[in-house]
This record gives sequence, structure tokens and C-alpha cells, in this order.
Amino acid sequence: MRISDMANRIQPSLTRRLFDMAQRYDNVIDFTLGDPDYETPDYVKKAGCDAIMAGKTKYAANAGIAELRQVVAARIEDETGVRYDPASEIQITVGAMEGLFLTLCCLVNPGDEIIIPSPHWVNYGHMTEILSGHPVFVEAKECDDFVVKPEAVRAAITDKTVAIIINSPNNPTGAVYDAKTIEEICKMAVEHDFAIIWDECYKSILYDGAKYTSILDFPGMKDHAVVINSCSKRYSMTGWRVGYLAGPAELVTNMPKLQENIAACVTVPSQYAAIKALSSDDTEPDRMRAGFESRRNVLVKGINDIDKLSVRSPKGTFYAMVNIQGTGMTSEEFAYALLEKEQVAVVPGITYGPACEGYVRIAFTMNEDKIEEGVRRIRRFVESL
Ligand code: PLP
Repeated sequence: MRISDMANRIQPSLTRRLFDMAQRYDNVIDFTLGDPDYETPDYVKKAGCDAIMAGKTKYAANAGIAELRQVVAARIEDETGVRYDPASEIQITVGAMEGLFLTLCCLVNPGDEIIIPSPHWVNYGHMTEILSGHPVFVEAKECDDFVVKPEAVRAAITDKTVAIIINSPNNPTGAVYDAKTIEEICKMAVEHDFAIIWDECYKSILYDGAKYTSILDFPGMKDHAVVINSCSKRYSMTGWRVGYLAGPAELVTNMPKLQENIAACVTVPSQYAAIKALSSDDTEPDRMRAGFESRRNVLVKGINDIDKLSVRSPKGTFYAMVNIQGTGMTSEEFAYALLEKEQVAVVPGITYGPACEGYVRIAFTMNEDKIEEGVRRIRRFVESL
């Protein structure tokens, strides 16, 4: 059998590799995946179960069931004041993951360029390459709080640029984009007519009372941006695989054709669960957010107390990038040795781009006792070097 060059080229991320390696140990503290330990709220689980028992177990519209698209449009309007037409401007997706992929499918011709501020979520680059596009990584430095400089974006624009992907709050750094930077990027998108793919799947996990700045807060951006979100992180629904996006009709109306050939539709009981999640005003998601904030504080304090390591307090998400440069090890050396010696799994920064060599990512998705135990083991490991 001849396997395509593309399939051969795409490699599993180090995040998955370290996660898989971690499963071989009994007493492991696994800081790899962004999969919170919180349960999906009961009222959401019940809505999914009720849908199954009511026989809502058949194919549905490629764009997603109409009621969910209406709920999504209403929610976006409520949060931003921007009105999307549920029939032509909203697509229900298999997580934010498929929202990103469908968007790139609609934008990228072979050789087109996608600007990706880096440190970045690995899949952005892979998805672009699957479509024979070129990811153009632009470094966002730690001294700039991992927010990309507008001048650096400008310098990366060519006549092949079709989009930039902005992820705020950011995986892996926890950075949150400020209004001034977003405004500059908006100007460039209008001037050079490229799309802004706005991945806001961590939007609800913000700390220190911060208020979210959305791409839709900027005039005219409804015509230039695709806003991507999902139920995964806010409602701890990673395994339900349900997400959604909003964008201009000329782009979004192409997606049902593509969805027909990819997944047909998002799992129907998951869509009913999402209706419940997105239309409920239950405070469970806020409790989870508060829980992450207190876990973050435990982790940041613990790591900054260790000689040779440092970490900036992430402003959002449940990830922290720990600076390990003081140990003189590469991020892969550090991660493999830490796992072997202390059974603590972290992700080598190099996964997220060359700018992250010298860092490891920690996902604080478990309870504080486990985080404290993980930090104790990391301290022992660093002191033993
Ligand atoms: N975007 C970012 C930045 C992520 O970190 C993730 C998952 O970790 C996703 C998108 C995809 O999430 P999901 O498909 O579960 O909504």
C-alpha cells in the first residue's frame, strides 16, 4: 500500500507522546493533557441522556441542529452585541478542533500562508500542512507576556497570507491578548484582506477579575473574523465533542458541504447537551473557573520557590509555561528525566515551537493535593541535578 506523503509527514505531538509514556507508570502525576478532572455538570449529562432516551439518535443537519445554532447566536449576541444569522453564519462542529479545520478548509489553497503567533497549539500548524498550506510562525516572547508584537505580524504578511490564528487566552502560555494589540491586528487584516481566526475556547477561564476582550469588540470585525469556541473547557465536556463557530455567510455556508464529507454531523445527543449547557445560567462553570484560579496560585507559588525554575502567572487557561533554563537542560531532556526519576509528566516546550525551548508546560487540571505533590517531586528532581 502506498501511504500519502502528507500522512507520513504529520507526526504525533510530544504532548501525546508524554501522555502515552505517563500511562506506563502507576503513581504518576500527569500534567500533560488539557483535560480537567471536573465532571460535566449533572444537568448537562441529563440533557444528553434524555436526548438518547427520546430517540434523538439519528443523523442531523450538516450545519448542526437548528435549535443549537439559535442558542449559539443568542449567546454570542448577549456577550458581544453582534448578531449572527443562525441559518447562514453559525456552524456546529466536532469541538473547536473541527471548527478550526473547517475554517482552514474554506480559506487555504496550496501554498497559502497562515500566520501563527508562537508558542502555539501544535494542531494549527498540522492542520495547515494537511491542506498544503504553510504555517508562518511569529515569535511571541516571554518578556512581552507571550503576546505577539504587531510589528512582527506585519513583517510576516505576504501576498499569500490568507489568515492569522489568534488564541486568547492562549494554550500553552496562558497569555491574554490586550485591546491595543488586537486593534493593530484588525487594521492589518482589513488593509491586507486576510481573515482573523479567533480561537476563544478558553475564554471563560480568566483570572484576577480580568474582563475578556473579544475580536467582536472591534468595529467591522464580523466581516473579517471567524470566532471559534466549544463546550469542552467551560463545561468540562472534552469527550462530548461539541463546538461551534460564527463567521461571515460567504465562508460559513460552505461548511455544511464539507461536514457532509467529514463527520455528517456532530453527535446528536451531544448537541442536545450543548443546548442545555449554553442556555443555562447555572454557576457550575464559574465554580470550576474559581477552582482553576486557586490551583494556579498553588502551582505558581510552588514552582517559583524552586531554585533554577520560574513561571509567570498565567492570566487565563489551565496551563503554565515553566522556565527551566536555569537547569541547562533542553525541554525534552528535562521532561523525559523527570518522568523517569519522579513519575511526573510535563510537556517539553519545543512542542510549541522553537521559542519554547527552555520551557515545559504544566496543565493544572487536577486537585491541589496532587499539584502540591507534583511540585514536591519536581523540586526533588531539580535539587538532584
Ligand atoms: N484550541 C486550542 C487552543 C486548544 O487547546 C484545544 C484543545 O486543547 C482546542 C482548540 C480544541 O478543543 P476542543 O476540540 O475539545 O473544543
